[in-house]
Amino acid sequence: MSRSPENAWNECLEIIRDNISRQSFRTWFAPLKPLSLESEGELHRLTVQLPSQFYYEWLEEHYYSLLRKTVTKVLGPGGRLFYDVVIEKDDIDQGYEGASLHLPARHAANEPVADAPIATRSRAVTAPSGRTHEATPSAAAPVSSPFVIPGIQKVQVDSRLNPNYTFDRFIEGDCNRLARSAALAIAQRPGGTSFNPFLMYGGVGLGKTHLIQAIGNYVAAGNAGQSVLYVSSERFTTEFVQAIQHNRVAEFSLFYRQIDLLIIDDVQFFGGKEKTQEEFFHIFNALHQSGKQIVLSADRPPKDIHGIEERLLSRFQWGLAADVQVPDLETRTAILNRKSEEDGIDVSHDVLEFVAHNIKSNIRELEGALIRLLAHSTLRKREIDVTMAREVLADLIKETRVTLTIEEIQQLVCDYFSIPEDLVRAKTRKREVVQARQVAMYFSKQLTQHSLKTIGLHFGGRDHSTVIHANQSVENQIETDAKFKSMIEEISNRLQLRAR
Ligand code: ADP
Ligand code: MG
Repeated sequence: MSRSPENAWNECLEIIRDNISRQSFRTWFAPLKPLSLESEGELHRLTVQLPSQFYYEWLEEHYYSLLRKTVTKVLGPGGRLFYDVVIEKDDIDQGYEGASLHLPARHAANEPVADAPIATRSRAVTAPSGRTHEATPSAAAPVSSPFVIPGIQKVQVDSRLNPNYTFDRFIEGDCNRLARSAALAIAQRPGGTSFNPFLMYGGVGLGKTHLIQAIGNYVAAGNAGQSVLYVSSERFTTEFVQAIQHNRVAEFSLFYRQIDLLIIDDVQFFGGKEKTQEEFFHIFNALHQSGKQIVLSADRPPKDIHGIEERLLSRFQWGLAADVQVPDLETRTAILNRKSEEDGIDVSHDVLEFVAHNIKSNIRELEGALIRLLAHSTLRKREIDVTMAREVLADLIKETRVTLTIEEIQQLVCDYFSIPEDLVRAKTRKREVVQARQVAMYFSKQLTQHSLKTIGLHFGGRDHSTVIHANQSVENQIETDAKFKSMIEEISNRLQLRAR
């Protein structure tokens, strides 16, 4: 018998067409192309080309039994069906191609018959026989691997994780203890804890992205076979819209359904996007039902997330919702310490404390401050000290500046030099007094918003040029006299503490 592959496949299509809806037929069968029909005695191997891996998954899950019966009917008991999956460049340009398949073309056709997928005997159409590679008698039930394309067990997914976001690099504090330990428990047993889904929420820059990615990195490092995917809700939305535009929603949805650990960042952005929510709702259900782990983050507690359907919002809270809070001083200092070590930035403890004292709300800002200091010190070829930190970070720590008055500065400075406070306003030109006066003027200029003239007036009605001179003199000494410089830093720290 010498038949063309087209001929055999068309006959198959006739049967299939009669058994499924037009829409399904057009979606899943019309795009397949017959490639070859090879016969060896009683064996007839028909190979069809699939547009992508998703077709393979879908056909296997939904049409296994139909295909099996059909091929047997058309080719006889020795009929076998093989798939050839093509990787189109287009796939790679699509956003969600994360599933990059590296399949040798025509892979399946070269495999030994023993691994051949589809079954035998015409009676199999009604009562499949029980040979090893055939379907079980309940032919309608999806069978997981009869269509195995040898060599491909699982689609490889690019996890899109940032490798720096690990548990090792995450500093624990009271502010994030619960979230961190839940995250670790999940990482150790994805899908196996009651924290499914796990929703982490809290303000900007508090470590949510870091922590949820740490789960992903942990799982990816420990289980090569697990597919992990991190995606922001914005990217999910964009890709979904693209999938609609390119008629690839089914593929999109299949792609997500085969993820073992799905991490979606900033779900509040799903707000108001109904179609995307609906798609995500189904993906969520499918994953959750099959025991896959879902990890989510949001920038606010679930009750404050707007524009999200109730049924989805309630699912977000099925597992565990844990918050991250603003870190306390110790945690902020520890984070800064760690970051400066990691980045190899040499900063004194004083500076770190100064930064930790003054930047409170946000860890990203803390990091930003450190990087800014590094940049300035490189540029100016100057060591990073508290004076520089105050100057460079002025816009971040403005609030503290205005809370000090000139009188408070005079008080504290005179205290430091152990001289009576009123001497800075007096006429005396005694050396220690002159020094204290200049230092107090310097800090008044640095730390208050007053004009040079006003500052002068507060120092016994002195001229603004005296203030300028004092300021220059102090700056010169900071540059040239290490001892003087550390003295200024000490005073500066005390002033900062007073300012709060
Ligand atoms: P969010 O997603 O909550 O806005 P991120 O996870 O992006 O915050 O955190 C901002 C930055 O701060 C990241 O670079 C992250 O590595 C760092 N960070 C946050 N929390 C910690 C922490 N506890 N220990 C170490 N680094 C942290
Ligand atoms: Mg984030």
